This record gives sequence, C-alpha cells and structure tokens, in this order.
Amino acid sequence: MKKLQNKVVVITGANSGIGLATAKLYLEEGAKVVLSGRRQEALDEVANKLEGDFITVQADVSVPRDNARLIEETTDKYGKIDILFLNAGIAPVSPAHDISEEHYDTLFDTNVKGPILATKEALPHINDGGTILFTNSIVTQKGFDGLGVYSATKGALRAYQRVLTSELKSRKIRVNSIAPGPIDTPIYGKMGLPQDVVEEMGKGFAQQVPLGRFGTSEEIAKSALFLASDDASYINGVELEIDGGLSQI
Ligand code: NAP
Repeated sequence: MKKLQNKVVVITGANSGIGLATAKLYLEEGAKVVLSGRRQEALDEVANKLEGDFITVQADVSVPRDNARLIEETTDKYGKIDILFLNAGIAPVSPAHDISEEHYDTLFDTNVKGPILATKEALPHINDGGTILFTNSIVTQKGFDGLGVYSATKGALRAYQRVLTSELKSRKIRVNSIAPGPIDTPIYGKMGLPQDVVEEMGKGFAQQVPLGRFGTSEEIAKSALFLASDDASYINGVELEIDGGLSQI
C-alpha cells in the first residue's frame, strides 16, 4: 500500500530543490499533488518530466491574492486538502551593518507572511486529521554570519507553528516542521554571493557537519514523507532536524 494514496497535497516552492524532490516522492506514493512556484518556466519544465496526478500553479507566496488563488485552484481541481507543505523560501545574505528595509521586507514577506497567509486560506479546506508541514532551518539554533534576517524569519515561523498546533487540536490536524542543515539545492546560487564565496561557504558548512557533507533534497523528502504520512500519526508540533548532526554539537 502506498503511503499517501489519494491524499491531496499542496507544496509551495515545488519547482526546485527540496520541494521538487518531495513532490516527486509524494507522487510515487500515490498522492495528488499541486506544485506551486514563482517561476512559470520552471514549473513547465518540471511538469514535462513528472508522472502522476498533479497540477502546477504559479503563485508568489509573498502576494496575498496569489495564496488565495493557489488554494482556489487546488480545491477547484481536487476538492479538499490533506497535506499542506509550506516550503518556499529564500535566503539572501546581508551582514547586520548593511541590512536594508528591502532585504528585511522581502525575507519576511516570503518566509513568514507567505506561509502564514497560505495557511489561513487553506484551513477551511483541510480535512480534519490532515497535516501541515513547514520548512524551517537549523539557523535558529546556530548563528551563521550574514543570515540574521533569514534566521529571524525561520524563528518567527517556529513560534507561529506552536500556536497553530494548539489552535488546530480540535480538528486533529498535525502541524510539524523539518529543519534542514546544509542541503545541496539551487538556493546557494540565489544568495547574491559570488560563486567562489559560495563554494568556500559550502566547504565550511560541510566541515562543521558531523557526517562531513551536505545533505540531498531526496534525504529531506524522505523525512517530509514520514511526517506527512500515518507513520507519524502521534508526532505533532515538532521540528525535526535533518542536518547530519550539525545542530546537535
Ligand atoms: P530552492 O531550490 O531555491 O527552492 C526554493 C523554492 O522556493 C523555489 O521553488 C522557489 O521558486 C520558491 N520560492 C522562493 N520565493 C518564492 C515566492 N516569493 N513565491 C513562491 N515561491 C517562492 O531552495 P531549497 O533549498 O529547496 O529551499 C526550500 C526551503 O528549504 C526554503 O524554505 C529554505 O529556507 C529551506 N532550507 C534550505 C536549506 C538548504 O541548505 N538548501 C537549509 C535550511 C532550510 P522560484 O525558484 O520559482 O523562485
């Protein structure tokens, strides 16, 4: 028996990295998947390669009406929602002395406002007993230079998730999150840093990880499958670090 047979799933940030690997695995496990992302051409490319029951919806999570439309298009196609995976995020770098209002607003609009408003839109349509999953980060447990605002967004999200877990208890909706460590995805190329700096940073991260390497999107997807499936039926309100041990030492 497939682990997500006929479950309706919405994934934000599904055209790349962790979201895409999770969408692939969920489809293999029998889910009906709504893949959402910001870039239409990336969604089209992904749609050409995927197999299974899915649709793609272009939506910018930082735009409130886009979140409403994402949920509308989902329910128009599939009726209700079983699993909402709020994964879209950005991680541009800025040292504390250089943080601009735009840097702050872009990060908070994408990483905090987006998932909170998408959740609000989705809640009336999530089946009782469903699951909401977020992508946080271990940056809330360790300080990495230049990631001050990014870390603050993920910390804000973690605080919000605790309240959501409590507010949804009467509906038996489980709220969990994954906290990746350094994972080999395109996000590092989008940080606004020169390639050689990114490579040096990557080497530094890998050396700090007890397992000595970056993780893969597929390794994160397996945990996202576990937390969304009935295998995790008594796991609620947690943040699962998937980081080769980095946050624990
Ligand atoms: P990625 O490959 O760059 O994927 C990020 C996804 O988010 C893309 O699909 C991107 O779509 C989407 N996105 C960004 N801004 C958006 C917006 N305003 N509206 C809609 N979609 C938007 O990076 P990733 O590493 O898989 O990141 C996924 C999540 O993991 C993020 O929340 C990130 O903070 C978190 N994370 C990553 C790592 C890591 O080391 N990779 C570690 C900890 C946490 P477009 O490409 O179309 O913009």
